[in-house]
Amino acid sequence: PDREIDATRRDEDMGEASLRPQTLADFTGQKASRENLSIFIAAARQRGEALDHVLLHGPPGLGKTTLAQIVSRELGVGFRATSGPVIQRAGDLAAILTNLQPRDVLFIDEIHRLQPAIEEILYPAMEDFQLDLIIGEGPAARSVRIDLPPFTLVAATTRAGLLATPLRDRFGIPLRLVFYTPEELRAIVARGAEKLGFDLTTAGAEEIARRSRGTPRIAGRLLRRVRDFAAVIAPGGAPVSRDVTDAALSRLEVDALGLDAMDRRYLRRIAEYHHGGPVGVETLAAALAEARDTLEDVIEPYLIQEGLVLRTSRGRVLGERGWRHLGLTPPAQPDE
Ligand code: ADP
Repeated sequence: PDREIDATRRDEDMGEASLRPQTLADFTGQKASRENLSIFIAAARQRGEALDHVLLHGPPGLGKTTLAQIVSRELGVGFRATSGPVIQRAGDLAAILTNLQPRDVLFIDEIHRLQPAIEEILYPAMEDFQLDLIIGEGPAARSVRIDLPPFTLVAATTRAGLLATPLRDRFGIPLRLVFYTPEELRAIVARGAEKLGFDLTTAGAEEIARRSRGTPRIAGRLLRRVRDFAAVIAPGGAPVSRDVTDAALSRLEVDALGLDAMDRRYLRRIAEYHHGGPVGVETLAAALAEARDTLEDVIEPYLIQEGLVLRTSRGRVLGERGWRHLGLTPPAQPDE
């Protein structure tokens, strides 16, 4: 829970707001998604219609909330935000939907955690802008139909595979967010440093970028930590070098690949207890005392993308790179 590089949102991230890009042009990276959005937004504006519903999926911290806000700003419409677990009763959703202005953006984070009964109400709302509600109980119960203003649902999920197919099919614009390249992150870090009035060298920004697991939220957090560290160990206002950056990140136990103690514990578990795997994700989750979802949504995506771990039908297997990162030699392949 207290991982510096955990990409999930935390209270301290409220300060992130100041670093958030405000327009599509300002938004670095995610080229494919950005280009698509820009075309669909322009078309919706031209026709004066609500934008089609947008599904953003990808690991935490890649900019889903930020993009949702940008969409509403670029459309010049209002923005309402809620999340799957917060909507407990049909009435909660009805209250939100009936209060929307025409063409508004409704952002639902973690939509995969919406209750099935609420999902059912969402279908006609998305498709026909109609709300079907049951009022009263027993013999007196009757159903009422309420017309809604046309609106755009922008939904976010960490894994599109968690959504029921009928829900997924109702999004005209599904966009998959990907991990950022080190170059994109360097630009984001440099820009963030500038906004914070923090004099960071290009080499320092590169070092933070390389160790941020392809994730802007982590980059922003590491940037703040490096700034704190530099203020104490190298006061005087000289531009902060790669060495100072490296010292700060090493003290946070963020290694050269951006992995922290939790990631290394995960890798070592597969190496030392399972001879490199395959091992099932449930077994790993129990051994590491982490929720399976946390492993799958937060820890594994980056390890898999970097080839440290492979996901196979029989379970997780430590990749060649994973062994080397731990400073271990992979066992010899058994002869077929
Ligand atoms: P998600 O909703 O996917 O978890 P957020 O949209 O909350 O992620 O983004 C996390 C933080 O990362 C934001 O506060 C913002 O400061 C930063 N961020 C995300 N994407 C970008 C980007 N493309 N450029 C600059 N900063 C970004």
